[in-house]
Amino acid sequence: MPIYEYECRECAERFEELAAVAGDPICPGCGAIGARRLYSAPSPPGRVPRGARVRDSEARRGEREAARRDRLADAAARRARGETPKPAGKPPRPGGDS
Ligand SMILES: [Zn+2]
Repeated sequence: MPIYEYECRECAERFEELAAVAGDPICPGCGAIGARRLYSAPSPPGRVPRGARVRDSEARRGEREAARRDRLADAAARRARGETPKPAGKPPRPGGDS
């Protein structure tokens, strides 16, 4: 049975799927559906995936995760600051209704 190689559009994860699988392949990395099929020669079964590529993909995913966590933490911190406004020393202007 031929095996096709796919590349995830979301996380660039590369994985192999049997051609017999119906429907769109699901990325094992992020679960995205509809990876792009790479028109490479089918890999013979039992072949070890290119270690360097896999490591590279893993590293990229790690970076993405870290970046996302950074963004989330930043957003959370900003939200925390915004949600706890301290009107210290700046009372609302009397009469200034706008
Ligand atoms: Zn993916």
